[in-house]
Amino acid sequence: MRYVSTRGTAPALEFEDVLLAGLARDGGLYVPETWPALDAAAIRAFAGLPYAELARRIMAPFVGRLADDPAFAALLADTYAKFGHPAVAPLAQLAPNDWLLDLTQGPTLAFKDYALQFLGRLFDLVLARRGARITIVGATSGDTGSAAIEACRDRGAVDVFILFPNGRVSEVQRRQMTTVPSANIHCLAIDGTFDDCQALVKAMFNDAPFRDALGLSAVNSINWARIMAQTVYYVAAAVALGAPDRRVAFSVPTGNFGNVFAGYVAARMGLPVERFIVATNRNDILARFYASGTMATAAVEPSLSPSMDIQVSSNFERLLFDLYERDARVVTQKMAGFAAGGVLTAERERLAAARPLFVAGRRDDEETTAAIAAVWRETGMLIDPHTAIGVAVGRAERPDPSVPLVALATAHPAKFPDAVVRATGIRPELPPRLGDLFERPERVTVVANDLRAVEHLIRDRARIRIGARAGRKE
Ligand SMILES: *Cc1c(COP(=O)(O)O)cnc(C)c1O
Repeated sequence: MRYVSTRGTAPALEFEDVLLAGLARDGGLYVPETWPALDAAAIRAFAGLPYAELARRIMAPFVGRLADDPAFAALLADTYAKFGHPAVAPLAQLAPNDWLLDLTQGPTLAFKDYALQFLGRLFDLVLARRGARITIVGATSGDTGSAAIEACRDRGAVDVFILFPNGRVSEVQRRQMTTVPSANIHCLAIDGTFDDCQALVKAMFNDAPFRDALGLSAVNSINWARIMAQTVYYVAAAVALGAPDRRVAFSVPTGNFGNVFAGYVAARMGLPVERFIVATNRNDILARFYASGTMATAAVEPSLSPSMDIQVSSNFERLLFDLYERDARVVTQKMAGFAAGGVLTAERERLAAARPLFVAGRRDDEETTAAIAAVWRETGMLIDPHTAIGVAVGRAERPDPSVPLVALATAHPAKFPDAVVRATGIRPELPPRLGDLFERPERVTVVANDLRAVEHLIRDRARIRIGARAGRKE
């Protein structure tokens, strides 16, 4: 399988090069050249498979010769053996035809673990075989940093530097990052805001000599390998509920559009999906787009579901590429207009093509709290604010009550305890495997909000041999 860029001018690449490249050189996102097909018999044969083997079969057409490599199968088995439930992504029932897909069983209690745990191991496998190393640099306001750290801890070919705003992340979030004792993990508490951290990371990527010397790389959801790994749980859930002989609807708490796009990939491959319900908080750019055909950015407003406080959903470009029949020139034009003016408009007939499969809705903080309380009253289950938005929008927008509705539980309630306490009066507990989080020693370096200071520290600690690659003197 080869991959092409949504902007059309970067070279087509094989899977391993797409994995290491992340973003395409023309600024686009890589997508498979064609969508592989799963017929009904293949889907039927998925019933009852262990999650890691299901993952291997779904990924097979995307990863080329890796699929038959015993090291790849072993990597998948190792990835998902560490999760907190033997089903890896278990379903929980909320009502007769109403389900939760529990994606909180990974080490950092959010769905990002399902892809990042795989990605960290895959980086190591591919880099070790190439005799190469990378340095991952990222800014986080909480969730992504801990998922990336857990994914890359103790990996021989990867060093990780995570910048977060000193004193401005929750204690659970900070401890999930700073209590990892691995020598290749470096937590930098920046004396500044999240925006300052992001600006520092951007400046490092724009410093070409620094970027090249350190082999800088990123692990955000523009990486195709992350999408592919997330496609697996959509198939697992649908098969458990009767696919291919029964259709399902998915409701997906959405920010960057990576998770719901992974579901779309499953549908393109042949999984019978009735509808994707795109659930957003008050930062509802996607809901407004599906209603009006116009995507217009506004200021990001903080909410109870911070991981969805996003105005520019980077993965949406991948859907746009398909809506415009893979015409990269149109996508390039639309994205350039969006970058310049903050507005993107889709023609009526293009939107009509997306409408049977996608619907969107939004919930504000008050409605989110009410949804947490309602699920608690009805079932005795505690859900987090992101999940609550998925449940609430899903119930309102489901196409047909006879079609099973699967809402994705994207984070564990103990990650966002204050919102849960406000809704239910109950403080959710960390699962036993994380129970000693508050006793573990922390390791963190406080750094000034200063590019030179941060670059100096990273050069000092990264294991990649600076200068050795290009024979260059510092
Ligand atoms: C990242 C995240 C989301 C948003 O997922 P996207 O793939 O960015 O749409 C939703 N909920 C939680 C808890 C997250 O961490």
